[in-house]
Amino acid sequence: MPRVFSGIQPSGELHIGNYLGAVKNWVALQDRYECFICIVDLHAITQPYEAAELEERTLEMATGLLAAGIDPARSVLFVQSHVPAHAELMWLLNSVTPVGELERMTQYKDKSQRVASVPAGLLNYPILQAADILLYKAEQVPVGEDQVQHLELAREVARRFNSRYRVQLFPEPQPMLTSAARIVGLDGQAKMSKSLGNTIGLLDSAEAVWEKLRPAMTDPARKTRKDPGNPDVCNIYTLHQHFSSEAEIVRVAEQCRGAGWGCLDCKRVLADNIVAALAPIRERAAALKADPGSVRQVLADGARRARHEAQRTMDEVSRIMGFLPPAM
Ligand code: SF4
Repeated sequence: MPRVFSGIQPSGELHIGNYLGAVKNWVALQDRYECFICIVDLHAITQPYEAAELEERTLEMATGLLAAGIDPARSVLFVQSHVPAHAELMWLLNSVTPVGELERMTQYKDKSQRVASVPAGLLNYPILQAADILLYKAEQVPVGEDQVQHLELAREVARRFNSRYRVQLFPEPQPMLTSAARIVGLDGQAKMSKSLGNTIGLLDSAEAVWEKLRPAMTDPARKTRKDPGNPDVCNIYTLHQHFSSEAEIVRVAEQCRGAGWGCLDCKRVLADNIVAALAPIRERAAALKADPGSVRQVLADGARRARHEAQRTMDEVSRIMGFLPPAM
């Protein structure tokens, strides 16, 4: 099967934006691809973070991924720092990556403006991404629109390495265009993101889902219950399209346009549907949390498989780059 690499930050618990925008798609890909799914803790340290929380967040992310349907029998799920070759290959790829290419990355320009002192890791972040992908010679990478530029750089790095050493070692990874959704947060403004506090957690209780949905942004033109609304501009309607039945989605639009439902009525229906849809995931997560050793074991097995594949690539890279092999 063709190989796919996907990475996700150890941000703790998954939210419905991560799930609908990426993870649900990865779960489906497992049937047709050999998937390497990596919790990218080495990337996470390029931004301010709490060291005391990183371990817990990493485990929470792994638990969420397994509960959401990532199957260790079909996919390699592992933590980036458990495979030192990621950092090693990144260093080697530094030598074929022009600084100018890194400086023009949109994410670097945005993020570097928000910190007083720019760490080199922020600039080199896309080289680590290139290493993540090329280490496993992944042919396809599912990417959101915010990562397309970094994948282009990974392709450029692969081309430059192959050209510099006159080899065809690294395939140029192709973007995997999917119908995965871009989920807007409950503020109706920006992409759903834990740092913006506009999320619904994948493992939230029914009460928590309702508490978060209740004040969520709707059609701003709908001032009172008697005003007809426009579902096409309402993020609650978009969420209905992911969690409600076809018939219910039609009903929501009718009730909104005809001012039959108030927005709270509409949100109540959505809350119930979200809770019902996510119930199996919450149940699996509860079972995994009751046995955290099983999650660690999955990660250990995944890291072993990943290290094996990574070492094959590193052996080839070392030979091609002319390093003296260590004496046996
Ligand atoms: S009734 Fe529903 S779809 Fe219409 S504006 Fe309110 S929350 Fe949005």
